[in-house]
Formats: sequence, C-alpha cells, structure tokens
Amino acid sequence: MEEKNQLIVLAPLKKRKKIAENTYEVSFKLPHVFVFKSGQYARITLPSLLAPDPRGNQRDFSIASSPNSRSLSIAVRDTKSGFKKTLLEGENVQAEIQGPFGLFTLPEDASHHLIFIAGGIGVTPFLSMIRFVMEEKLPYTITLLYVNKSQDSAAYLKELRKLDGENENFLLKEHVGHLTKDVIKEKVERSEDSLFYLAGTPQMVNDTKDMLLELGIELKNITMEEFSGYLKDVEPQAATVLSKESSHVKPAKKDKKLGAGIEGELARRSLSDLEALLQALNNTAIVSETNAAGTITFVNDKFIEISKYSRQELIGQNHRILKSSFHSKAFYENLWATITRGRLWRGQIKNKAKDGSYYWVDTSIAPILERGEPIKYISVRFPITERQQAEEQLQERAKQQSVLTILSQEALANPDMTSLFDNACRLLAQTLGVEYCAVLKLLPGGIQLVYDAGVGFNAEKGKTIVSAESQESMAGYTLASKEPVIIEDLSNEARFSGSDLLHDHNIMSGISVIIHGQEHPYGILEVHTMQKRIFTAEDINFIQAVANLLANAARNQLDKRKDEFLGIASHELKTPLTSIKTFIQLLHKHSRRQNDEHSLLFLSRINTQVNKMAELINDLLDISRINSGKLEYHDNLFSLSELVEDIIREQQLTTQRHKIIFEDKVKQQIYADKFRIGQVLINLLSNAIKYAPDADKIIVRTEKQGDKITLSVHDFGIGIPKKEQQHIFDRFYQGDIKKREDFPGGLGLGLYISSEIVKRHKGQIWVESEEGKGSIFYVSLPIKV
Ligand code: ADP
Repeated sequence: MEEKNQLIVLAPLKKRKKIAENTYEVSFKLPHVFVFKSGQYARITLPSLLAPDPRGNQRDFSIASSPNSRSLSIAVRDTKSGFKKTLLEGENVQAEIQGPFGLFTLPEDASHHLIFIAGGIGVTPFLSMIRFVMEEKLPYTITLLYVNKSQDSAAYLKELRKLDGENENFLLKEHVGHLTKDVIKEKVERSEDSLFYLAGTPQMVNDTKDMLLELGIELKNITMEEFSGYLKDVEPQAATVLSKESSHVKPAKKDKKLGAGIEGELARRSLSDLEALLQALNNTAIVSETNAAGTITFVNDKFIEISKYSRQELIGQNHRILKSSFHSKAFYENLWATITRGRLWRGQIKNKAKDGSYYWVDTSIAPILERGEPIKYISVRFPITERQQAEEQLQERAKQQSVLTILSQEALANPDMTSLFDNACRLLAQTLGVEYCAVLKLLPGGIQLVYDAGVGFNAEKGKTIVSAESQESMAGYTLASKEPVIIEDLSNEARFSGSDLLHDHNIMSGISVIIHGQEHPYGILEVHTMQKRIFTAEDINFIQAVANLLANAARNQLDKRKDEFLGIASHELKTPLTSIKTFIQLLHKHSRRQNDEHSLLFLSRINTQVNKMAELINDLLDISRINSGKLEYHDNLFSLSELVEDIIREQQLTTQRHKIIFEDKVKQQIYADKFRIGQVLINLLSNAIKYAPDADKIIVRTEKQGDKITLSVHDFGIGIPKKEQQHIFDRFYQGDIKKREDFPGGLGLGLYISSEIVKRHKGQIWVESEEGKGSIFYVSLPIKV
C-alpha cells in the first residue's frame, strides 16, 4: 500500500561530515515536494558506482534530518563496499531518492512519554524525530537511552548533548557497554503510559524487548525497528527491505490498537494458546489458517461473512480465490518471501468477495515455526473502514498533485523535452503502480507514431514505430475517438488489434490519453500493466492532467523555437538589406551624374520597396526583442504635441487622399520613450490610411484627463467587426482572409508591438469601431512629470 504513495526525486549530494569513528553523515538537497515524516526511511539509488558492489546500487536508510530541513541526511558506516565508496568519495554524486518507506515515526498522541532506546547508529531515526519535535516545539517529552560500544563510535553525540542542554522536554542518557535490565531501570524513568521505541541491530532490539517485557512493559507499548543500516554489508538487498517492512509494531493508533497488538501476541504465544486468542477475535477480526503450501485449513465466521463464500468453498482453496488483481505480482512475491522466511508480514490488501465486490483489509500474517521452518500461517485481518479508505484516497490525490507540481517546475526549468517526458513517465508509472508508461509522438502525415519517451518498454526511443491506424493500435484508436481509452484485457480487445509494442511486453490493462497540440495532436501518453487492473476515473483524470501539462510544455517549447527563429531570420535579413541600400545610393548618384532619368525613376521605386521591407524587418526585430525582453526604452521629457505634429507631417507625405487633422487640446510634456511613442502613432496612422481607402480625413486628438493623456486616431474606413476587435492586438493577427487579400503588405505585428510599448509605459490601448463606419484607436499614457 505504502509503495503507492512514494515518490522518486533526483537529489544532488550536498555535504559529507564525520560524526563518529568510521561514521559519516551524508546530506542530499531535496526539492520541496518531497515530504517525509521524521524517522521514516528512504531508498537511495546511486546511478553509477565507483566500484562494483555485489549488493547493487540501492540501500534503504533511515533519515537523520528533521523533515523541516530541505536536506535529507543519513548516517553511514564506511564498510568499504562499492556503494559506500561512491557515497563517501564520489564527485558530483546525484542520487535517486525514493520514499518514504516504513512507519517508524512519532505516535499521533503527544501525551505519552516517549522512551527511545538506540543501539549505535540505530539512533538516526530518533535524531530525526527529536530534531523535528524540538524545531516544531511539539508537546512530546522524550528520553533517549543511547547505547554504544565505545564513546568514539557514538554518532551524533555532540549534537544530542547540545539538544539535551537546550531543551526541557528532551533528556539524553548515555550508556557505554552492554545494555541490561538494571541499566534500563536505573537510567530511564518510566510511567504507565510510556511508549518505548527500540532501534539498533536485530539482536539488540530483540534482547531489549525481552528485558522490557520482563520489566512488565506491555508489548503494545513497544515499537521496534531492526535498524538495517547497521547490518554488515553482506545481507542481500531484499532481506533488509523485508525485515524492515515486517519487523516493526505500529505505534498504538486508537482504531488499530487491536491490529497492532495482535502481531506481537501471535509471535509470542505458543500454538496451544492461539485457539483461545482466535476465539476472542472472532467477532472483530477475519481469521484464517493455511498450511505451509498456502491451502486454507481454517476460517472463522467473520471470514465467511465478509468474503461471502461458504466455509466449504473456502477450505482446501488457496487465498488466491480472494485476489482482486489490484496488487502487483511483486506485492504478493514480497508477502510470500517475508512469511516463508519466518517473518511476520503486515499490510493492507484489497480483496474480492464472491459477489464481485471489493473490500480492504488490514492484514497480519504470522508464520508458525517448527525448528525454524514455517509449518502453517495464521492470518488476522481487520476490515478497513470507509473513512480510512477516503483518507488513503486523499493521500493519493496529494501525491498526484505533487507529481504535477514537480513536473511543472521541471517544465519551466528544463528545456529538454525528452528528459521531461521520461521523468513524467517514471513518476506516472510510480504513482499509479504500473510497470509501463510511454509517450508516443505523432509523426508528420499522421499515420505513424514514434516511441519518444517512456519507462518499462524495451524499445528504442525515436526509432520504434507504432501505427496510428484506429483498428491497429490503442494509440491510433485513442486519436480517432478523441477521448481517453481504457483496456482491461488486451487479449480480449475487439476495438483494435494492439501494437507489437504492447503484445511484446505481455500487456494486459492500460489507459491512453491524447497529448493535445496546437493544430494536430502532439501524440499519446499511455500507461500499462501486465496485471489485470481496473483504472478509476481519478486515474484517468490524473493521466490526462499530466498529458495536458506535457502538451503545454511542448507548445511553449515550440513557441520558443519560433521566437528564436524569428530573431535569427530578421537579423540575417537586415544585413543584406543595409548593403542593398548602400548600392541604391551609389547607383542613384551615378544615374544623376549621367542624367539617366529612367534609371532614377526605377531606383526611387526600388527605394520605396526596400524601405517597406526594412519596416517589416524592423517589426520582426522588435518582436523578437520583445519576446526576449530586450526591447530597450530610453525615457525622456518631451512635448507630445510636437512629436504628433512631426509624425503627421511625415505621414501626410504618404497619402494625397486623406487630410490628417490634429485637434490638440493639451500642450503637455510627457516623460516617455519618444521614439517608441512615435512608433505607436506611426502604426496607428498608417493603419488609418491603409484601412480607409475611400475616406478623405483622419482626425488625431490629444486630451488630458487627470494625470493621463489620451491620444486618439479616428479614421472613417472599413471598421473592425466586433469579434475581431479582441484579437487585433495579438501577434500576427490580421482579421479574416478576405481583408488580408484586400489589404496586402502587412504582417499583423504593428498593433501588437504598439500594445507592448504602451503596456511598458503603464498605459492602455484600445479601439472603438463600427464596421463600415470607421475606427477610433485610443492610447492613454501617464504623464509622469
Ligand atoms: P497589419 O496592419 O500589418 O495587418 P496590425 O497589427 O497593424 O497589422 O493590425 C492588425 C489587424 O487589425 C489588421 O490586419 C486589420 O485587420 C485590423 N486593423 C488595424 N487597424 C485598423 C483600422 N484602422 N481599421 C480597420 N482595421 C484595422
């Protein structure tokens, strides 16, 4: 269950510090979205090792840092393994951090006195809890009995002593040497409701537990953790993980009290005691017993009531009869590996009743051992209430939300789409607990998709092709149906045959959604699993949300590339244009000398066209400067009236038809960029001339309202339809096609650039217009003098 709520993040190694003999603290810098509770475990994967390590490149560690600190610190004994070598000596180490694992953390009820007993480096989870309690000023009182072989080997001793000195509610008791009952009695003051937490080597934890029981402490008040980090680097990886998951007793949470207690009871009592115990549980718990092969030999009444099978139907069967296909194969393998090793397994399982309905149970399975070998298994389950389920769903949502947050941050920071897509796939697969996830990109032409990014698939990125035909592939079908597509069993799928990519990977269930593009879909995002899985509406929403985020990132990326192209293209166009202009001038001089009227006429026409071209290129350059935030402004105090008069004079030269009238009501100076404000007015006037071919006048007005000046350009031309008015200030917008054909020669940039300039001056630009009657463009600017 817990695995579903885990996240993986990439974290750089920040610091290494010696904290005791042969012991180091290693800290990683964590992103904000990665949330731990104090004391919990993290799995650390080092992508490449400095030296080979038979145990591989992963280890689980308890965190030593408070979850408040943005770095995750762990304590490491240097065992000279390849893994530790990399961790302690590697340069620029980046680790994949996964978690949280495990439940070894503070109880919810702060009223208990907490007694932590730590052996050696087992102190790490406690340090994390203590740091957290002190930083947050939480009302726990804590005594830590810290047992070490020698003072030199005691990690974090300085810091613990300091915390002891600074905090009233924390007491450190040190002990060097072997822990005995007498030491506990002498050093620890306990009361009825003290809760004991033990962490250290399995041996130390077990011995301490026995001592506490002998001292009359109830087992339900003892929480244990065999601290795997302390083990010599010899045990295979799986064993350390399993031992951690199965070995601790949960802190007494009220509604789970019985569940927590029962584990210990089962482990402690002899076989003959069990029957009485099971009897007592009959009304609340679902109890069953299987033989060593897993065949059911006993079920209680509650089992029958909840599973809706009769006793006859159950006895002689395997628990597989209840399997809901919700959990992965690995989940059951893990369960079996744990109990066949003689360890207790605890977890939450979704089961299927005879009538097809589902129910969740909090399950403990205890092996009964004879000479170290399991001879039977007793399982005790408590139905999980709806509230708990709702809580879990809520947690799941929160995790999904955090995945979306990570991805959007990454999309902003990382221009590399492929790595963003790969990460999205990894996080999606992980959050949903599936093995496969892929981004298939639609290729130009729309008849094929290419495997672009993903996890789980053994396929070459950028090379493996999937058909986009709707009968052939799930992706093709999704594109055609334009909505998310779900498969429950690919082998029974009637709508499409399914791509080789899916069949080759034995895929059974999955969902695919469209990653929308601007005009065509960008591609498909799909998740798959080899197990039968029924995806929920929430799963679909989550996947679609990730797809939308990716679509957005791809779009932004495309826009960015277009902008870059624009910048380069306009710059490159400008250079030859400058030399063309120089040659025109030379030719002009030459023709004048020769009195070549003909050439002079042609040259002046060429010159007009080249000037037009230069204007267009200047517009393009402005756009790319605006996009990259590099359009420069030089503000000065100047007379607006004089500027308007100059520009009218200039523009009047370009038209004989229109008389440009200036009604100047203010003779006001303003503080602004004169050149850029002039550019705005030139744009408005040239539009007024261009879009009013049959009119005979244009009126320019200036008016003062409070601390603002409003400049308006009124033409009596074709006007602008209502629905176009909201778009005319957009980049490259030119109204409908007909207008574009009737009034060629623009790029749809003038008004966009004008509005950017006005915005930069903290002013406003807008239009009032009626089709067939004309338009008034207004620009209002703060005077600022
Ligand atoms: P361009 O004129 O180069 O197409 P602009 O950004 O200056 O680009 O204008 C955008 C669009 O707004 C024009 O294509 C036109 O459809 C409309 N428009 C602008 N000014 C006027 C006007 N004075 N009268 C009618 N339509 C106008």
